[in-house]
Amino acid sequence: MSVTYEYDMRNPKANLRPVFLAPHYDDVALSCGGTVALLAERGLRPVIITCFGGEPPATLSAFARFQHQWRGLDDHNALAVRRQEERSAATLLGAEPLWLGLPDAIYRGDHYQSDAELFGAIHPDEWSLLDELEQALTSLLDKAGIQPAWYAVPLGIGNHVDHQLVRLLGQRLRAHGQVVWSYEDFPYVLLPGGEDQRHALVTQYCEQTPWMIELSAEHLERRIAAIACYESQLAVIFRDLGDPAEAVKRAAQRVRQGQLIERLWLLRSRVKEHSEAIAHVPWLLSQPEH
Ligand SMILES: [Zn+2]
Repeated sequence: MSVTYEYDMRNPKANLRPVFLAPHYDDVALSCGGTVALLAERGLRPVIITCFGGEPPATLSAFARFQHQWRGLDDHNALAVRRQEERSAATLLGAEPLWLGLPDAIYRGDHYQSDAELFGAIHPDEWSLLDELEQALTSLLDKAGIQPAWYAVPLGIGNHVDHQLVRLLGQRLRAHGQVVWSYEDFPYVLLPGGEDQRHALVTQYCEQTPWMIELSAEHLERRIAAIACYESQLAVIFRDLGDPAEAVKRAAQRVRQGQLIERLWLLRSRVKEHSEAIAHVPWLLSQPEH
């Protein structure tokens, strides 16, 4: 069965705008850039807010330095580079790029000092981070005069702690009565085990019928071009996926034959009582020694 959510495409009030929440610079372009481009084309003025887009600490951990090195980023201007990439990508998609001041997980003390920790459980000391995140978002939206029509957050495929935190923020917004969609985290959805995890997460957190957004070839080209703006990330993201444009096409073509689709899943206001064990996703297929 397929349901269309056309009501979301109409602009109920000119001042209401779709707000896409990204854990990191690049996640929205990677996962649902075609949808952003389509909404922009329809005059809905989408906003992309990067949640963990803040300053790194003055002294970096060995793990954070390794992450910079792996991407060819200089410790002193990594953030400036990433924000410039974000601006370029957002311009291509027709979105307004904004960010909150909270730092990326790799910069948050010694909570996440290995890939196992970064893609594991949220550190127990970080539960208050959700309050900080919500307050920072509310105050940014206020300051910028943005009234959200609805939000989009990551499903959390791949299990990165920052993706989990932004989905939790989405669930909180949903509990407050907001409409909150979740997008399929790319590249994780395309990696081995990704589709199973997507299914498990949708079963646990979402209404079962997705909003199928059918893209034109041009919308998909925009997503691909926007992704190419994140030059510092490309070699790492696509290390096991081959050509970026082909990988993005594979993701968009896998839902329905002959069409280019991005799916958004509506978060339920109440999460199912049972907590299924989420299948481990062996997405880290290859990485340099550190
Ligand atoms: Zn991310």
